[in-house]
Amino acid sequence: MLQPDTFQHKGLRQQLVNELRAHGLAADDVLAAIGRVPRHCFFDSGFLRFAYSDKAFPIGAGQTISRPSTVAFQTSLLRVEPQQRVLEVGTGSGYQTAVLIEMGAQVYTIERQRELFLRAQTLLGQMRYRAHFAYGDGHKGLPSYAPYQRILVTAGAADIPPVLLEQLDVGGRMVIPVGQGSQQMTLVERISPTEVRVSTHGSFEFVPMLQGRV
Ligand code: SAH
Repeated sequence: MLQPDTFQHKGLRQQLVNELRAHGLAADDVLAAIGRVPRHCFFDSGFLRFAYSDKAFPIGAGQTISRPSTVAFQTSLLRVEPQQRVLEVGTGSGYQTAVLIEMGAQVYTIERQRELFLRAQTLLGQMRYRAHFAYGDGHKGLPSYAPYQRILVTAGAADIPPVLLEQLDVGGRMVIPVGQGSQQMTLVERISPTEVRVSTHGSFEFVPMLQGRV
């Protein structure tokens, strides 16, 4: 059952937003979106105190919900505008999906683990967040709805998957952690049909982006 969003939750969430603002790494529209998503609903009720601290946390199936400062940083780098089509690779808990929806994006999200795909789809439905959920390997993207103005990868990729690049619109931005062990947060901007600009934005640790679906 969906947990209520009480004054206590709202207070804790506001504190988290204030902390993230103090870090100075997140854009105002992203902080506003984070302020609206009840993050505790993505946790079992016994783990409330973890929901609003800046930590990654296990979500089952060997995966983690990214820490709020990482969500804030990746989403800020992505620069989402309302109505844009955004492809997210690695649905996981669905928390990042909800943040993107709060920013007004049309979200297409892919997860390779069936258990997580099903759980996130159910939860976001209960929370009245509408997205397109796909079960598959994000290395292949989601060609039926391409091109995307934004692509966000939330697992650590060995390289920039060429198929994802093909699905990125001209003028579009892709944010993807690249590397093994730890990753460089990488921004890929498609500046013309044949050219991209690649820049890196610090070191992070993500669970690996794996092949195939399970
Ligand atoms: N955005 C998520 C973060 C989850 S961690 C959240 O807010 O909770 C990364 C997720 O990427 C995991 O759920 C993992 O199963 C998924 N993943 C890893 N490799 C993938 C791939 N090739 N395609 C799709 N999802 C993948």
